[in-house]
Amino acid sequence: MKKTALSVFCILMTWVTNAQSDFSDLNVVAQAHRIVDTLASPYMCGRGYVDNGNLKAATYLNNKFKKLGLIPFGKSYEQKFEYPVNTYPTAYSVKINDELAKPGADYIVIPSTPTTNGTFSVVRFDRSILSDTMKVKEFFTHDYTNSFVMIDDSGATEKKEKEIWESLKSNPFKAKGIIYLCDKLTEETSETVADYATLNALRNSPFRYATSISIDIKNKLIASFPTQNLIGYIKGKVQPDSFIVFTAHYDHLGKMGSIYFPGANDNASGIAMLLSLARYYAEHSDSLRYSVAFMAFSGEEIALLGSKYYTEHPPFPLSKIRFLINMDIMGTGDEGITVVNGTIYDGAFKDLVKINDSQHLLKTVKLRGETANSDHYFFYKNHVPDFFIYTMGGIKAYHDIFDRRETLPLTKFDEVYKLLIQFTSDINQRKFK
Ligand SMILES: [Zn+2]
Repeated sequence: MKKTALSVFCILMTWVTNAQSDFSDLNVVAQAHRIVDTLASPYMCGRGYVDNGNLKAATYLNNKFKKLGLIPFGKSYEQKFEYPVNTYPTAYSVKINDELAKPGADYIVIPSTPTTNGTFSVVRFDRSILSDTMKVKEFFTHDYTNSFVMIDDSGATEKKEKEIWESLKSNPFKAKGIIYLCDKLTEETSETVADYATLNALRNSPFRYATSISIDIKNKLIASFPTQNLIGYIKGKVQPDSFIVFTAHYDHLGKMGSIYFPGANDNASGIAMLLSLARYYAEHSDSLRYSVAFMAFSGEEIALLGSKYYTEHPPFPLSKIRFLINMDIMGTGDEGITVVNGTIYDGAFKDLVKINDSQHLLKTVKLRGETANSDHYFFYKNHVPDFFIYTMGGIKAYHDIFDRRETLPLTKFDEVYKLLIQFTSDINQRKFK
């Protein structure tokens, strides 16, 4: 999109965002769609590091928290922190055998990639080499400082062999760059810059025939990217210094070159649930024994940095959290939900299943053990009882350009919403010592 068109679009989006009070008379699912539509829009630039995407999302949430009447801890909802991150603020191009490849669709640039410019030969390393010790030895006698090594593990199924292929991503070839052929493009984030480029490319893309690559990419390492968690609460009537907590991350991978990662399911959907629950509790605050806090974290996609920072700088003691529910990926539910830490807090898990069964909400409430894959983790490590809940089934888009608002169904959003309200309302009735 051209710059002028983009700025007109930005003005339009700001107007639309303000005009649509997401908390009108709409039902819960229609509201959630509006929230996802806004957060996953091009205006938000994937809520990351380019074109103020992250800040735009934070501003949106700040306004929402204010409208809901949440109380801040301290002067504002914001808890500021910073971290290093590698970015790609300008468009990049990759040509395979002189033909322009499609970013996001044919390949992704792994974000440890440094500025790389020029035309290089592509040398294939596949199973016919790996299975022959002599060929491997021969392969490593060459100099690849002006070549890309294309790693093709087609046919590898055994775990042990897969591990060997994985280890080759660390570039033992000392090549200019690595092309890793794969079946699904899954983007990530990086705090550091490597001394070689890495591209993941689809096995069935033009990359499979690559003999040469022309690449023009510029990175920009931001040493201290300023960001913020947003935290607010609704005051309980009996024991307001004890809390039930809902968390969800609002950051995503952002924009890289000319593409952006919308992150509709991951995790605009979780924020939609967070705001829906905040609205519910704002309207039902009279019945609250304990306070209910709502935490929208940043930095999740780069090693859970926002929630980690929060647990290191909590505005009230972590021991005052009666229960915490982290919501990350709430967009489907055809196959039910998974409950991380369900095996640890089995009493609470049984309560959840009981509600689900009696109200016939979801097909499955699946039990899972401890994981370090979302914002509940550092709370759990600090002995806060918590679940991390995510929906299962339906669309498979994840950390790619296809995780879009247009295709996010929110299939069981209403059922999960009801389940969470019943579960936390029950906790709210209970007396803790
Ligand atoms: Zn996520």
